[in-house]
Order: sequence, then structure tokens, then C-alpha cells
Amino acid sequence: MDGTTPARVAHFFTCDVEEWYQVVALAPWAPMDRWEGFESRVEAAVDALLQRMADAGALGTFFTVGWVAERHPAMVRRIAAAGHELASHTYDHQRITHQTPAHFRESVRRTKRILEDLAGHPCVGFRAPSFSIVRGTEWALDVLVEEGYAYDSSLFPVKRAGYGYEGGARDAHWIDRPAGRLREFPPATLALLGRTVPAAGGAYFRILPPQLVHAALAAAESRGHPGTFYIHPWEWDPGQPRLDVPLLTRIRHYAGQGGVMARLDRLFRRFRFTSFRAGAPELAGR
Ligand SMILES: [Zn+2]
Repeated sequence: MDGTTPARVAHFFTCDVEEWYQVVALAPWAPMDRWEGFESRVEAAVDALLQRMADAGALGTFFTVGWVAERHPAMVRRIAAAGHELASHTYDHQRITHQTPAHFRESVRRTKRILEDLAGHPCVGFRAPSFSIVRGTEWALDVLVEEGYAYDSSLFPVKRAGYGYEGGARDAHWIDRPAGRLREFPPATLALLGRTVPAAGGAYFRILPPQLVHAALAAAESRGHPGTFYIHPWEWDPGQPRLDVPLLTRIRHYAGQGGVMARLDRLFRRFRFTSFRAGAPELAGR
């Protein structure tokens, strides 16, 4: 199976650019007012990924936290110069479920401006921290349309504690909102024993057998759709400082980090990847 099938569909590779200490699961031990005191690791990790992607001829979309972009403008420019797309991951990496519409509007407006100034192309895409646009917080989609965004990649059609958009469509689709139309690119899933299970990247890629994500992308391809993969810079950085967190959080955050780069290389060998901006013709002119 591996590495021999000629690629037909270009899948969407996405990286959520954030620091190791901004992860929602670590928030109780690393609140925003302490961020400035932690060691920054994001540039080295992103540069390692840019090199691997250049070697593989892969493009992707980098959903970047505005707070990080402000502090690492040269890194953002390097991402753009390599041909990748810059898109928004909020300014402060707070979950949609934990903020007001007014705060969210300011966050996505500010981040769009920061990224456009640095990247030199329109910032039209968004992903919520921890896929936190859930049932009942669709107001966020209206805010995105009103603020000039053309697409979202936050609606994870799975049932999970704390996030997930259960019953949502699994392939790319249009969402009609009072404020207008938005294209949605859901993270990849796999239909397994009558259930929709998450298989798009992150911990599912880092900890579970890599065949899970491969199977989800291959299944999307067989339906004639690209799949959406995601990963974070801290996921291949085993040297990051360790916080004294509970066992389950520790496993979810730190397990498998040493093997991610090899898994990415294998993924790049089997599948072709591009950005939403370059690979989704329905976004043309938006
Ligand atoms: Zn994030």
C-alpha cells in the first residue's frame, strides 16, 4: 500500500502555528499572562517542517496565531516565501466556546491584518483553537464572513469531549449563513463500524498507527475529495520544556513526538499536498 499508489488528488496539508505552551490542554498550567516567560520553540520547529516540505515538494496552509506572528515576523515571511498560505488561528488562541462574539471579531480582524502585512497575500482562511466551533457557536462563522474570510476549517464532524461538530459533513462544502457563504474544509475522518472517527492528524497521527490517517486520506480520495490533514510545530519537538501535568494530558501532549518527522516523510511520499489557496478552485477570486 505504502508509497506505490500514484497520487491523483492533492490533499490539504495544514499546520497550526502556535507555541508549545499555548496548547489548550496545557492552559491551566500556562495561562496567557505567563506566555512571555516561556522559552520560544516555534521558529526552529517550523523551519524543520519547511525544509521537509521543500524536499517533498509539498505545499500547505499555516494557520498562525496572531500573537506568535507579531513576535516572529521573519518566520511568517519565510513561510510565505516558500509558497505556502498564511491563514488565521485567532490572535490569542482562546477557544470560541470561551469568548464573546465581540472578542472573537477583534481577534480575527487583528490577526488578518498582521498576517496580510507579513505574507503579502490575502488572509481568507480560519481555524479555531481545538476545533472549538461547536453546535451553538455558529455565530463565529457569521463573524468570519463579515470580517472578510472565505473559508473555515474548524468543523470536525466527530463526537469528542470539548469539541467536535457531530453530524457535520465530512467533505468540503458550502455553509450558508445569515452573513453570507463560507466554504468549509472539515478535518479528515474515517467511517469505522458505523461511526465517524477523527483521523486528520495531531495526536491521532502521532500516537495511533499511521495507517489511520493514511486510510482517511485514501478514502477521501476514493470519494473524489481532498482530505484535510493537520499538525502542530510542538508535535515534533521532544526537547520542549515539560510542564508538570496529569498523566493523561502528558501522554496526549508528549507521546510519539520523536517519531513525527519520520511519519511526515512517509506521508509526503504517499500523498500529494497543497494549500487551500492553491488547491481549492472554488476559492478563486475570494
Ligand atoms: Zn491551536
